[in-house]
Amino acid sequence: MTYPVTRLRRLRKTETIRNLVRENRLSGDDLVMPLFVRSGSNVKKAISSMPGNYQLSVDLLVEKCSELEKMGVQAVLLFGIPEEKDETGEIACQEDGIVQQAIRALKKEIPNLYLIADVCNCEYTTHGHCGTIIDGDVDNDVTLNTLSKQSLSLARAGVDMVAPSDMMDGRVKHIRQSLDREGYHGIPIMSYAAKYSSAFYGPFREAAESAPQFGNRATYQMDPANSREAMREIEMDITEGADIVMVKPALSYLDIITRVKQNINVPVAAYNVSGEFSMVKAAAQKGWIDEKRLVSELLTSMKRAGADIIISYHTQEIIKDL
Ligand SMILES: [Zn+2]
Repeated sequence: MTYPVTRLRRLRKTETIRNLVRENRLSGDDLVMPLFVRSGSNVKKAISSMPGNYQLSVDLLVEKCSELEKMGVQAVLLFGIPEEKDETGEIACQEDGIVQQAIRALKKEIPNLYLIADVCNCEYTTHGHCGTIIDGDVDNDVTLNTLSKQSLSLARAGVDMVAPSDMMDGRVKHIRQSLDREGYHGIPIMSYAAKYSSAFYGPFREAAESAPQFGNRATYQMDPANSREAMREIEMDITEGADIVMVKPALSYLDIITRVKQNINVPVAAYNVSGEFSMVKAAAQKGWIDEKRLVSELLTSMKRAGADIIISYHTQEIIKDL
């Protein structure tokens, strides 16, 4: 059947009919808010490239999280900025590490807020790479040990889920085995499975103080030109025990999200990263776009592409409209 019998505009005529036939809806249940925690008390350090986002000390993080929880945010993703860094990221494995402290405080005050902790070394190493450097490059197998140790100390602190973002081969298996060995069978792993070597991470590096001091991350993060390789990464992580797989960044990789969704039966997370957030903010500050509409459109596109979970810095602003 075609025009004039078929007229697709019939189902767009009013708000009500558009509501009735809408295929995808963004919900607050889909969203995770990333947050940055640092040492000290009463510290709120603005991240200039990400307006509205701050590095917070544990006390203010707890305040922020209870505010978010009241708004309907169910889950947060935590990143730590330590006072000191070292060569290997071992400092992130300490029982009183900054994220571990945050988890304990949050679990005490807001027990129902779901806490996901990023697992990586780049915020904790002096050189800003995601693992231990041997012969000028990140050594895969040595790095697995620090990643597992970090995951374990987060588990002991009471984290609900760990999310390794390093892109080392075999890390999901290594972390799963370490967690299980100590009885943490119930802690899921959300792997940053298809994490691209992306220019969209620029503002995050200011936020987490994790810019690499030499070279780049192209020997471990994925080439933005590749799609089949993303499927290999994802299949490998699932085989190793990943419960949720993530595609990062989101916007320029919607095709990857769709491909994963169509081929794999585990939940898919999309990380709407710092650069995607900052571009929207910059254009909004100049008055060039309608921010609210744009954010809703962007996040809905991730959902339409197949994302079950959307990690976004827009969470705190958009959730009140959902
Ligand atoms: Zn890293």
